[in-house]
Amino acid sequence: MNPHPKIALTGICYDEGSSFMRGAAGAPPLIRAALHSESSNMWTEGGLDLGRESILEVEDLTPKSESEMLDQVEQAIAALLQRRLRPISLGGDHSITYPILKAFAKIHPQLTILHFDAHPDLYDEFEGKRYSHACPFSRIMEAGLAQRLVQVGIRAANGPQRDQAKRFGVEMKEMKDWQDELRLEFDSPVYISLDLDALDPAFAPGVSHHEPGGLSTRQVLKVLQALRAPVIGADIVEYNPQKDVQQMTAMVCAKFVKEIAGKMVEKRE
Ligand code: MN
Ligand code: MN
Repeated sequence: MNPHPKIALTGICYDEGSSFMRGAAGAPPLIRAALHSESSNMWTEGGLDLGRESILEVEDLTPKSESEMLDQVEQAIAALLQRRLRPISLGGDHSITYPILKAFAKIHPQLTILHFDAHPDLYDEFEGKRYSHACPFSRIMEAGLAQRLVQVGIRAANGPQRDQAKRFGVEMKEMKDWQDELRLEFDSPVYISLDLDALDPAFAPGVSHHEPGGLSTRQVLKVLQALRAPVIGADIVEYNPQKDVQQMTAMVCAKFVKEIAGKMVEKRE
């Protein structure tokens, strides 16, 4: 094993930010189990053996309230960044991304977020909650935690969220305009926030919000594999084991962990 891991894998067992149904809090142990399942191996498609790169597995957080979640996540991610690790956080619902970005912005004042989701998650508040999983990107953009926000997979935008997108200059790549040769150019480091419901429910049944007309697993992988900018961190959120079929979606999450980890450690010219 490489004694100097570059990547930290952490889980955040929290789903109180969910507006529709609970269950995402149970995701992290199942994603880890899928990652280490003997049904597959630890090589990326690009030919990198992650087994030799050594991913540091960090204990899951289990915050008991919204305020605990906001504090614990920011502190835990800040501690990993202090150690020069690139964190991959397993949700949990999407509300975890705001405190993660608070920690990132202190170290990386210039960063772009590449956000995969069926939903823009740009409500100013949702059912009276400002830290709902429907709001994280409003909190992030109003606090100036990212220079750019590029959203891919969107197919459930509405009026209020389109207004917010305009206000914050969000670049929304909507599914209705999907083109298979999507190539994204970034001139700053990239943070990836991957909500599993960006995928079509046919590819990822284990999510709380089934929104038809989404991406295939391969289309997400193509966008990830085409990235040329450094990937400094990521989260994979909204996997809901209670909606899953035979752990199929856990395996999809594990695949994304591997390909994102591969991007984080690959040698670039
Ligand atoms: Mn989301
Ligand atoms: Mn979503």
